Amino acid sequence: METYSERIKIMVGDITQLPTEAIVNAANRSLLGGGGVDGAIQRAAGRGLLQECRTLGGCETGQCKMTGAYNLPCKRVIHAVGPVWFGGHQGESGLLASCYDSAMKLAVEHNLSSIAFPCISTGVYRFPKDEAARIALRTVFKHIRDDYEGQVVICCFSRDDEEYYRKCFWEESLTLLGDHEAVQGYKEKIDAITPEFWDEAFSLIPQLEQGAKPSNGRGMERKYGFCTSPADYLSWVHCFNVDAMPDYYNINNVYCLCVIATFLARKLYWTGSCATPEELLKFLRPVREIVLRS
Ligand code: ADP
Repeated sequence: METYSERIKIMVGDITQLPTEAIVNAANRSLLGGGGVDGAIQRAAGRGLLQECRTLGGCETGQCKMTGAYNLPCKRVIHAVGPVWFGGHQGESGLLASCYDSAMKLAVEHNLSSIAFPCISTGVYRFPKDEAARIALRTVFKHIRDDYEGQVVICCFSRDDEEYYRKCFWEESLTLLGDHEAVQGYKEKIDAITPEFWDEAFSLIPQLEQGAKPSNGRGMERKYGFCTSPADYLSWVHCFNVDAMPDYYNINNVYCLCVIATFLARKLYWTGSCATPEELLKFLRPVREIVLRS
């Protein structure tokens, strides 16, 4: 069974190339084309798209309208009008959330099997990228939980943009999905681990606790160290996010397993149930026993 977080894929690419059922365009209120992703979509779709857009009479900020896709590999284009960033006191966050919300509602209404989003408003419209990523994920997660059954793709145009989503992925997913869902997802992975892996993983935990640098693994060098807050920990653990990055990390990688194991314990740590690495280990040993018994 797929977990909720497996139904969101974060990638780097050109949205005009995606064969998802729908792609979302970061349009302006005229819907008559512009620069950035809008220009790229209009160019790739051909003149038919502009002709259809001319019949729509524009679109309000925070809303969406749907058209055909013409020469694009997708089947529909959802034109979303994101807010221009004026400093954050003009309802920009609510309007951006409303864009994602309206697009997801269209996807539900039309039973679209997949939908791809660009990073709306974060180009020429200057919306801060970290906040935009949080709003996007939070809104999409809500629909995945409540009414949307398809696949969502977040199509970033650069690695830097992608990083904003990865950084807040867990925090946003946990906020919405609740601990139960997250723990269930991890439990399934933990259940699949062999005793040998547990032994190796547990022997490495003290090293990880001290911020020791593992010697192998791709991308692992990005962020380590002693975490001094839950936010630190979440930004650290996203590097090992096996749900969101299935091809990035191999599930057999022992460091991933360490993190999976410590994930549960850390949650107790940060909620105050255990306060030292020794207490964490005290918690982990029985967890391990339970897992090995089951
Ligand atoms: P806005 O006016 O809403 O800010 P922009 O088109 O200027 O829209 O930028 C929105 C985002 O789309 C930016 O992150 C930009 O890097 C990205 N972008 C531009 N071209 C493409 C493309 N072909 N595929 C995916 N994303 C793109």
